Amino acid sequence: RIMSRVIAIANQKGGVSKTTTTVNLGIGLARKGKKVLVIDADPQSSLTESLGFHQTDQLEVTLSSIMEKIMEDREVGKTEGILHHAEGIDLLPCNIELSGMEVSIINAMSRETIMKRYIDQMRESYDYILIDCMPSLGMLTINAFAASDSVLIPVQAAYLPVRGLEQLIMTISRVKKHINPTIHFEGILISMVDSRTVYAREIIELVKENYGESLRIFDTMIPFSVRAAETSAAGISIYQLYPEHKVAKAYEDLTGEVIASAHCGRKGGDGNE
Ligand code: ADP
Ligand code: MG
Repeated sequence: RIMSRVIAIANQKGGVSKTTTTVNLGIGLARKGKKVLVIDADPQSSLTESLGFHQTDQLEVTLSSIMEKIMEDREVGKTEGILHHAEGIDLLPCNIELSGMEVSIINAMSRETIMKRYIDQMRESYDYILIDCMPSLGMLTINAFAASDSVLIPVQAAYLPVRGLEQLIMTISRVKKHINPTIHFEGILISMVDSRTVYAREIIELVKENYGESLRIFDTMIPFSVRAAETSAAGISIYQLYPEHKVAKAYEDLTGEVIASAHCGRKGGDGNE
């Protein structure tokens, strides 16, 4: 294991495929032989449910209970609370209790780095740690950025995302300046592309116009398909449910791009050079 990579999947807009991307990139990486942990950092617990764990209120160890322990300077075991998915990835789940965390960490010491203290100790066990962020730029998302090497930003092709992106990029820049100097942009993932419209092209142009060469946009775009939406109810990946489908192919290609960006010194992914 050369070095683990921690990637936050973030966009403060909901419904842009953060969770679907966390599942299918995570399992995509596992299919390439990588050891992968995915962390559910959205109190809605869609990631936990998408991986087939539905009784979330009965989970005793979750991201919030672990963050509480960290705040109290108690030891957290490396396998504590970790669930295993049949397709070869590990999950640190959450439930609605995580929603109280935004408030309860306000008075904690070094409140921005609570999640980082947990994730840093998990790095030696994994090649990739993916954090499925909630749709806001609050304390939990800041904690995810503080803990991450890079941020992957899914944007929905049917919506002009530039205004929201500015705020997101600003937040990441501030985290870089004050808390995590090595964080960089993994890239923008254009998702839910409806081939019958020209939105995707327009959005790429718009993003390029506004952020120039500095922000990488993945070559791979994820097509819109109801098949992708079916996977979360089934608790399995698109590779398992519809292996021949174009969305499965797209997520496999994205996985290849993410792996390749590590090998070329992450140049393509660094928006801050
Ligand atoms: P987020 O985590 O950003 O809120 P989700 O991954 O939950 O987004 O996706 C939002 C909704 O869109 C979900 O119902 C999901 O199943 C569906 N979805 C995700 N990816 C696609 C896609 N490529 N095509 C069609 N629907 C999708
Ligand atoms: Mg989500």
